[in-house]
Amino acid sequence: MRLCDICGSEEAIYTNYVTGASLCANCLMNSIRRRAWSVMKRELLPGDKVMVAHSGGKDSSLALLLTKEFSDEVRELDLKVISVTLDEGTLYRRSSIELARKLAERLRVRHLTIQMRDILGFSLEDLRLAIPKGWKRNACTYCGVLRRQILNAVAREIGATVLVTGHNLDDLIQTSIMNLVRGDANALVKTMRHERKYEEGLVPRVRPLKYVYEREIASLVVALGIPAHLGKCPLAQGMRIGIRREIDFIEDSNPGSKLRAFLFLENLSSKMKVDVSLRRCSLCGEPTTSDICKACQLRGEAFRFMGIEDKNIRLDSLKSLKDSAFQS
Ligand code: SF4
Ligand code: ZN
Repeated sequence: MRLCDICGSEEAIYTNYVTGASLCANCLMNSIRRRAWSVMKRELLPGDKVMVAHSGGKDSSLALLLTKEFSDEVRELDLKVISVTLDEGTLYRRSSIELARKLAERLRVRHLTIQMRDILGFSLEDLRLAIPKGWKRNACTYCGVLRRQILNAVAREIGATVLVTGHNLDDLIQTSIMNLVRGDANALVKTMRHERKYEEGLVPRVRPLKYVYEREIASLVVALGIPAHLGKCPLAQGMRIGIRREIDFIEDSNPGSKLRAFLFLENLSSKMKVDVSLRRCSLCGEPTTSDICKACQLRGEAFRFMGIEDKNIRLDSLKSLKDSAFQS
C-alpha cells in the first residue's frame, strides 16, 4: 500500500503526474477545496443567491458540495444555495437525477428538477428521434446550446444572482481550443474571463472547478462515495470528442500541459479587446450577441423536424418559484 505523500498516514488514491506526489482522499480534497474556494472567494459576493446547475454527474455534484461547504464556512457572506437539475428527458438523465436529489438531501440543499419539455415543448429524446438521417447537426449540438439558454433563464427567473457550474479544467481547455479552431475570439474571452460583469438578462457564472483536473474529481468522488453519476452522456458527439482525445494525448506525454495552456489562454484573453456586449434576441428576448440567438435558430430547426409551429420558450412554470426558491 502506498501512503499519502502529504499526511504520510492514509492510503494514497491519486497520483499527480506533474509533481509525482501521491495523495490520500483527504489531502486530495484539501487540495481541490483550496483551488475551488479561491475561485469562490474572488467571484462570489455577499448575499448572493447561488443556483448550482447540478446534473448529478461527478463534476456538478462536487461543485455543489464545495459550494455548500463554502457557504456554511464563510457565514458572513450570507449565501443561499439551491441545486437545479435540468431533465432533458433521456434515460441517461433519469439515473443521475436520483443521485442529484440524494446528494442535495444529504447536504440539506433545496433541489429542483426542471423539465426541458416544459420550457421548450419537446424533450431531447423527442428531438433525437425527429432529426432526419444524415442531417448536419446531431442532438448534442442542439442540447448544448438549448441547455445553456434554459439554465440561464431558470437562474434569472427564480432570482439567482449567480450560476455555479461544474466545468473542470479539462472541459474548459477543450472549449477554449474549440473557440480557437473556430476563430471565435468573443467566445474565447467569455469562456476565460472571471471578473464578475453584469449583463442584462445574463446571470454571471462561477466555475469553482476550473483549475481542477477531471481525473482528480473522478478519483475523489469515487474515494469519498459522493452520490454522483460517473458515466458519460451517450449522446455526446461533435468536435469536442476529437479535441479531448488530442489534448489527453498531449497531457499524457507532457504532464501539466492542460493547466499551462489554460493559464496562458486565461492571461491572454484578459488582455484581448473584443466586444462581448450583449443585446436581446429579436425572437425570444434572451441575451445574445447577434440579432437572433443561436438557441432560436436551433429551436426553429427542431420544431420544423417535429412539424410543430415555432413557439417561444415557456417560462410560466417557473413563475411560482420566483419569490420562494431561495426561502429556507
Ligand atoms: Fe446534452 Fe451533449 Fe451534454 Fe449529452 S453531452 S447532456 S447531449 S450537451
Ligand atoms: Zn432567441
